Amino acid sequence: MKGTRKPQLVVLGAGPAGLAAALAASREGLTDIVLIDRDFELGGILQQCVHDGFGSVHFGEVLTGPQYAQRFIDEIGRSNVEVMLNTMVLELGGDRLVTAVNPTDGVVELRPEAVVLAMGCRERSRHQVLIPGYRPAGVITAGAAQRDINIEGVMPGRKLVILGSGDIGLIMARRFTLEGATVEGVYEIMDHPGGLTRNVVQCLNDFQIPLHLSHTVSFVHGRKRVEGVTVARVDERLRAMKDTERFVPCDTLCLSVGLIPENELSKHAGVELDPVTAGPVVDERMETSVDGIFACGNVVNVFDLVDYVTRSAEVAGRGAA
Ligand SMILES: Cc1cc2nc3c(=O)[nH]c(=O)nc-3n(C[C@H](O)[C@H](O)[C@H](O)COP(=O)(O)OP(=O)(O)OC[C@H]3O[C@@H](n4cnc5c(N)ncnc54)[C@H](O)[C@@H]3O)c2cc1C
Repeated sequence: MKGTRKPQLVVLGAGPAGLAAALAASREGLTDIVLIDRDFELGGILQQCVHDGFGSVHFGEVLTGPQYAQRFIDEIGRSNVEVMLNTMVLELGGDRLVTAVNPTDGVVELRPEAVVLAMGCRERSRHQVLIPGYRPAGVITAGAAQRDINIEGVMPGRKLVILGSGDIGLIMARRFTLEGATVEGVYEIMDHPGGLTRNVVQCLNDFQIPLHLSHTVSFVHGRKRVEGVTVARVDERLRAMKDTERFVPCDTLCLSVGLIPENELSKHAGVELDPVTAGPVVDERMETSVDGIFACGNVVNVFDLVDYVTRSAEVAGRGAA
């Protein structure tokens, strides 16, 4: 390991939040900014969102995820921001010591004057929503399925049930259908859809994919690979009603059951988290409870639109500068 570097600012995560925060700090005159991401390219989750619907507020245009990200990536290329890709941040201390690792440099330590947290969020898994049954292959989260199809070029299944009607589940119902798979239905435990109306219309209704409200998956069948799921209507306390259960054959159960801000690093640094949002408590400059540590984007709060992620990041970048 080389000695500890001391840049002015380190931004953790290079999705739309990290990109906008680094650029805002650079525009404020900082000259030594390091932007770190574990992925092989800049842009975060936007690179796998090939559908349109991004940028209507920030740019007044409707863009795809990669198009929206590219505008910021181009600007990063023209700026003095140093980018470290394929670099996983392992630890952040309350004294702002960042420990990261990558295949070229091994373990890297940086102790900047300020840090911006921009690690985004992660998807709830099957175990967090307690779906009983066997543990076969073929249970996948919607974001992972999206990455498989749009980035890795792999189809995770051919006959699907989707649990959860948030925007990612709706978008993936359409994506799977466009790729030739059959989506048996989207099952939603609440009595209303979780996603935007435009996505219910454009992703389900336009493709005749049924949406079953007040329903859940009560059992996963199959030893090696998913063979089907039991679905059931739920009562007013959201419990599956036995007498409404029916078997739906499928080879894949795709979960879209919520997102949680990604704050393992923040917790280790002693950052105070809000029990409602599960993200850091921040002030009007997006500074957290720890001096010199700022936060923005989905790490703070899961935003519906990326445009507001960018807005929060610009405040954090200026605050950190
Ligand atoms: C399927 C889907 C559809 C969407 N559709 C729309 C839409 O139509 N319109 C719209 O406006 N918004 C949409 N969004 C929302 C939008 O994409 C997000 O709001 C936005 O990407 C969040 O930005 P972020 O930078 O906070 O997080 P992310 O984009 O998730 O970026 C976080 C980055 O941090 C990195 N990271 C995390 N932990 C570490 C670590 N320890 N070390 C190094 N790097 C790390 C990750 O690799 C990632 O690159 C959609 C999102 C999804 C998932």
